Amino acid sequence: MNHRDRTPTPPPALRRFLGEHDPPTPCLVVDVDTAVARYRALTAAFPQARIQYAVKANPAPAVVRALADSGAWFDVASPAEIDLCLAAGADGEKLSYGNTIKKPADIAHAHAAGVAEYACEAAGDLQAIAAHAPGAQVSVRLLVDPPDSATPFGRKFGCSPAVATELVAEAAAAGLDPVGVSLHVGSQQCDPGAWDGAVATAASVFTAAAERGVHLRRLNVGGGLATSYRETAPATADYATGITAALRAHFPSAEPELVVEPGRAVVADAGLIRAEVVLVSRKSPGDDHRWVYLDVGRYNGLAETENEAIAYPVEPVDDRGGPDGPVILAGPTCDGDDVLYQRTPYRLPESLRAGDRVDILAAGAYTASYSSVAFNGIPPLRTYCIREGRPTGAD
Ligand SMILES: *Cc1c(COP(=O)(O)O)cnc(C)c1O
Repeated sequence: MNHRDRTPTPPPALRRFLGEHDPPTPCLVVDVDTAVARYRALTAAFPQARIQYAVKANPAPAVVRALADSGAWFDVASPAEIDLCLAAGADGEKLSYGNTIKKPADIAHAHAAGVAEYACEAAGDLQAIAAHAPGAQVSVRLLVDPPDSATPFGRKFGCSPAVATELVAEAAAAGLDPVGVSLHVGSQQCDPGAWDGAVATAASVFTAAAERGVHLRRLNVGGGLATSYRETAPATADYATGITAALRAHFPSAEPELVVEPGRAVVADAGLIRAEVVLVSRKSPGDDHRWVYLDVGRYNGLAETENEAIAYPVEPVDDRGGPDGPVILAGPTCDGDDVLYQRTPYRLPESLRAGDRVDILAAGAYTASYSSVAFNGIPPLRTYCIREGRPTGAD
């Protein structure tokens, strides 16, 4: 990975919109055409695969609608995400319930909406699926042990190959349709080789299931494809090469149907957060760094700065020139954890003052959807979507 700082160029439509409309800050602006272009690039890089957009990354209706119009499938995690996809014109049959943690009522809701496929990792959930979505397609989520990613899933999701094999056999016995295996190698996974071990584990489940008379046919390799923030991420083509190589190596005789389930890689580059400087503070005369407090922080959009996992490019908008210097970036709330970057080095102009604005780039994914509703009375991050250069007005 390239550790040089970079200055990505945001879609020009974003800054045109901000120049013309000057909306109150903080706000997220999303260029829907860029999200569609990223989706199309993914379908081109994985021509044999079904591309399923993970709605949680950015559930703005205009984004979901445009992707549905482009033929995308959707990974949904709750009844509310199902309803929002249907309202945006998605077909229930193109929704996949990827969350293994769901109530029987959630499954019944999904079944009534026509959701075809359900991920599962435990017998209790499998029984609930059999009861409330009879005959449904079921994929079993595998616990995998990939190389570190920026925001890993840890051990929260998935089961061992032995449990997975047992579950597919039980699914078949319960009249369900066990289609295959799903996995996720961690979000912002910067190693395109990360899928190799996970796909090998998946292949072992296909073999063990076949020995039990269950013939699996589908492999969902999850999302995880990284975005270039301050560090440059691998190209989509590198991920296609890595994942395809893993499939060839571990499924030598017959490759399964492939599902790729990106969230971040579809929407991150499509969005930009415009924020305002609330306060610049030098806490002691000898400090070389200033504290810069923005009107956006951990609780109203920048949740992924937790542990400084994601280092967004931050650019001054009202740059009066002159030298820059080191800063610690923090958010506006009365919470000691609402500090964005104190270890990751950031520099902003020495002339920066309250009222100046900054742009936070590549911020289309996991920002607005993570925003709290009213911590310290601060409203959720407002999203404006634009299509063909114009506000969609329905975000
Ligand atoms: C969040 C999630 C994704 C998307 O992950 P990205 O890292 O944003 O690509 C895909 N599948 C499942 C099951 C998820 O939970």
